[in-house]
Amino acid sequence: MSEIVKIFLELAKIPSPSKKERPVAEYIKNYLAKYPTIEVLEDRTGQKIDGNCGNLIVKIPGGSPHILFDAHMDTVAPCDAINPQLKNGVITSDGTSILGADDKSGLALMLALIDHLMTDDFPHPTCTFLFTVCEEQSLMGAKLLEQKYLDSVDYIYVLDGEGPIGTAVVKTPHGCKGTLKVIGKEAHAGVCPEEGINAFVVAAEAVSALSIGRIDGETTCNIGVAQGGTVTNVVMGELSLQFEARSFSPQKLEELTNHVKETFARVCQQYGAQFEETLQLGTPGYQLADTVPILTAFKKACEHEAVVYQGAACGGGSNANVYRMRGINAVNLSTNMQNIHSVNEQIAAADLEKMLAVLKQLLQKVN
Ligand SMILES: [Zn+2]
Repeated sequence: MSEIVKIFLELAKIPSPSKKERPVAEYIKNYLAKYPTIEVLEDRTGQKIDGNCGNLIVKIPGGSPHILFDAHMDTVAPCDAINPQLKNGVITSDGTSILGADDKSGLALMLALIDHLMTDDFPHPTCTFLFTVCEEQSLMGAKLLEQKYLDSVDYIYVLDGEGPIGTAVVKTPHGCKGTLKVIGKEAHAGVCPEEGINAFVVAAEAVSALSIGRIDGETTCNIGVAQGGTVTNVVMGELSLQFEARSFSPQKLEELTNHVKETFARVCQQYGAQFEETLQLGTPGYQLADTVPILTAFKKACEHEAVVYQGAACGGGSNANVYRMRGINAVNLSTNMQNIHSVNEQIAAADLEKMLAVLKQLLQKVN
């Protein structure tokens, strides 16, 4: 079994839900303890988010440019007990938990890359390795990382994407989410229903006037949760809808959310109900041309390893979105983790090895 697969299997066995990443951080610190020159810094993000662990930062000096690799230590649930299985070259859980290739694959790749930098003598760029916390909860770890760790960084490669090895996420949507709340008026449903304003009826009319789901090729929206009412014999006084919208076009996103708010406000007014909303823009999306230097280096590395490069769109965000919002040139690369956030999650051992080879080449090609 190759070293990278061994590291991955060890990491996968360690439960690390968001805000409880400490055991994985200890594994990383222990793993790197064999290098006396390496200092593993831990920032104060843990305290800020009420977690048990901060982001870990490892810097290995070299030439220019300064590149940073990022992967997140936390996983989604269920992850109380994870028993990774390697069968026919594919690693899965035992079916009762997630595997956590999202993003232990990225962590394993970074540790193997540090081994490469520390044991093989070759001219290399300055490399920072950032092991973040709480990515699965609104990218909090990356958002709270102090700017001083990013100041001199030229390129960030986030190892947290899906798709065949060679895939770079070049397009991610802008998003907006929050609550749409209709406040009607309660009244006894049998005695005096005409004195009430049924929040459900009002919301239903507003929703009927809107398109929900796919709006066009680059825009979607959804109502995922509806909560309201108390008992059957009372006219429903309040209804809260959890709404989200995404678009690759920031203009279309703005138009859509304005249309939703205006529609609800208009219908509420017609019924004498009140409307409250908490819609907020999320971390901005991004769109990269295939010709930018951060991608040229990756493309050259892929080519050297006979891996097919492809730029892909992804419906969700990653820490790369946070770093781009913070003004640093970042992109998310795939480790070919599959069926993530499910008990059917899997990753091929050969893909971990292939991606490691590509990243080793990347260190040679980036300039
Ligand atoms: Zn992830």
